Amino acid sequence: MNIGFIGLGNMGGPMAANLAKAGHNVTGFDMADVSIEGVEMAASAAEAVTDQDVVITMLPNGAILRSVAAEIIPAMKRGAVFIDCSTVDVDSARAVAADAEAASLLPVDAPVSGGVGGAQAGTLTFMAGGSDAGFKKAEPLFEVMGQKAVHCGGPGAGQSAKICNNMILGATMIATCEAFALADKLGLDRQKMFDVVSTSSGYSWSMNAYCPAPGVGPQSPADNDYKPGFAAELMLKDLRLSQQAAVSADADTPMGALAETLYARFVEEEGGKGRDFSAMLPRFEKRGRG
Ligand code: NAD
Repeated sequence: MNIGFIGLGNMGGPMAANLAKAGHNVTGFDMADVSIEGVEMAASAAEAVTDQDVVITMLPNGAILRSVAAEIIPAMKRGAVFIDCSTVDVDSARAVAADAEAASLLPVDAPVSGGVGGAQAGTLTFMAGGSDAGFKKAEPLFEVMGQKAVHCGGPGAGQSAKICNNMILGATMIATCEAFALADKLGLDRQKMFDVVSTSSGYSWSMNAYCPAPGVGPQSPADNDYKPGFAAELMLKDLRLSQQAAVSADADTPMGALAETLYARFVEEEGGKGRDFSAMLPRFEKRGRG
């Protein structure tokens, strides 16, 4: 396929490289001066998308997505698929999809999980929103860049699934970290705590697959001095998006709201920026109730 790819950063760069490696013709554009193996660089976003069968964007946030979309939608050919893989607010995803549909394009919002490692290895999970026709055309590309793609529903459904998942992740990581800190103070051995919880009703991905205690459970960022992994500020971004969506949909999400408050404090006041989101454990370790 002929593919235009806008936003070749930590995630978009390796995703575009994997598409080129699989034999697709990839033309890229990024505001920054980057070069990606196998990807021909264009002079502008509009140039990168002209005459392409598929256009993929991987950008920092909803405001940037909206401004890039306003530039590229008029330049894309009718019937082309517009896949946005960025994590953005549901309202921006829906607004961009409506503009794309009005221009006879097939929009798909398809945020990912799996991080930079997953982007490099081609093992991302895609959660997609859009029409059946758009999803079907995007699917072979999801197979190159990832290992699983779920069609979640209409426009915005991919972003909705992503932020609901990450709201659970933020809350369960905090719950797991505060429980380890309590167990420490009760004199419980961390390995015993893991052995019990990971096979009992308190188990979760945060405990079983990404244990925040160094030396316990499978290899995780905790074993690498909490280098990300998934940085605390990215978790904060997703929690903020979840709360923005909750306000707009009038949903009561007290656990998500508290997780947002705690990650905001951690990132903005307690030195958590640039650390993995599981570094909540050393944060709780140091604290008492006061
Ligand atoms: P990044 O900052 O490394 O990459 C974003 C790229 O977009 C940069 O290269 C930047 O120059 C480019 N860009 C910004 N404005 C532009 C414009 N107007 N025109 C063209 N290019 C522009 O960020 P990233 O880590 O690659 O993340 C991208 C998206 O993926 C974000 O929405 C993020 O939330 C999401 N995400 C990231 C991870 C992760 O672990 N990094 C995991 C899942 C999802």
